[in-house]
Amino acid sequence: MDNNLQLEKECSTCNGCGKIANKACPVCNGTGTVLTADGLQVLKYLRDSIRVSEH
Ligand SMILES: [Zn+2]
Repeated sequence: MDNNLQLEKECSTCNGCGKIANKACPVCNGTGTVLTADGLQVLKYLRDSIRVSEH
């Protein structure tokens, strides 16, 4: 596993603060970070793995 793999990045919509005008940012759901393309790949892989293990 590559430890340098970046799974999350700062949300560019709220600049990482998680809020826009005192409301939770809709892009990152108030977390201030969003998944990168690599992050989405890993998430998809994990979900597929869980699905397989349930059978
Ligand atoms: Zn945001």
